[in-house]
Amino acid sequence: MTTFIPVNEPWLDGNERKYLNECLDTGWISSEGPFVRKFEELFAARVGRKHGIAVCNGSAALDAAVAALGVGPGDEVILPTFTIISCAAAIVRAGAIPVVVDCDLQTWNMEVREIEAKITSKTKAIMVVHIYGLPVDMEPIVALSLKYGLKIIEDAAEAHGLYYKGKSCGSFGDISTFSFYPNKLVTTGEGGMVLTDDDDLAARCRSLRNLCFQAKRRFVHEELGWNFRMSNVQAALGVAQLERLDEFVVRKKRMGKHYMELLSGIPGIRLPLHETKYAENIYWVYGIVLGDEIPFDAKEAMKRFAQHQIGTRPFFWPIHEQPVFRKMGLFEDVSCPVAERIARRGFYIPSGVGLTDEQMKRVAEIAIRILR
Ligand SMILES: *Cc1c(COP(=O)(O)O)cnc(C)c1O
Repeated sequence: MTTFIPVNEPWLDGNERKYLNECLDTGWISSEGPFVRKFEELFAARVGRKHGIAVCNGSAALDAAVAALGVGPGDEVILPTFTIISCAAAIVRAGAIPVVVDCDLQTWNMEVREIEAKITSKTKAIMVVHIYGLPVDMEPIVALSLKYGLKIIEDAAEAHGLYYKGKSCGSFGDISTFSFYPNKLVTTGEGGMVLTDDDDLAARCRSLRNLCFQAKRRFVHEELGWNFRMSNVQAALGVAQLERLDEFVVRKKRMGKHYMELLSGIPGIRLPLHETKYAENIYWVYGIVLGDEIPFDAKEAMKRFAQHQIGTRPFFWPIHEQPVFRKMGLFEDVSCPVAERIARRGFYIPSGVGLTDEQMKRVAEIAIRILR
């Protein structure tokens, strides 16, 4: 019997156990424990930022980032339609309007050339999201932010260890966020972080994360925050994982190269770019988009992989097609043909950091059988 190959498995065989035992031995399991500060400092240093504020997940990090920037009713925020719901949810929950742009067919990242036409007097920020292991082309976006006085919110949840022109992803936003969900390159089980160089924004995020407790009189609140705190147990995992990030990135790049060699002979499919003019892919996930030559869609392909004991995941569903937002009357006349297309024709195959050569070989053999 063949064993199932999951789409992702975390790798936890470094110092994770040792640091978790430290939490138990010392009794420090809450957010007050020493690993939280340590993880914040190490991670911020790694990305090249002044402040890191650890939170309970990447979606919460986006909520805190949007709130900290003071985005609110009447404001518009431009973001890619091809991303996770968390990005638009943070904007909508703040009372602001999400304005989407389509994505590029090659990189699956936001179509930077579409942004300027969407800027209005209400635009407050551009939310960029690095997708699946390649970064957004940041230079033109930084130029637009300067030209129009816009803030940049950078969702780097899929971009641990990724560089744009030699500069770390997560270092471009006025405020940047990460997720440490188990399928991310550094995991804390559940977790996230907000990063910034701005002292005031950092203080605001720390306050928002902790119910906006005040130093002067605890339990008296001037503002509403959330409990978005990360526990010492989560941060202990994070410190151990971060120690191995370079090794993980090397393995991921190797995986991407290996899959490319194994799969490039299949006609009619689009594979991730190994590199662009400004970055080398770290293959957070290894995506496949089916061309017109293939007479079925991603849903059918994923069903066939499952029959062969191989896990897959569909691509993101575009924000402008989300029923929850359509019911709110958002995105009524919006069309983004590229995102609509890759959402229906794209999926990703097992891409975990611990994936073995044998597993990749089996995935490729099945892919060839199914897609040829
Ligand atoms: C994973 C992810 C998030 C959300 O992170 P959670 O920790 O699962 O809440 C946000 N944005 C992007 C781009 C992601 O990939």
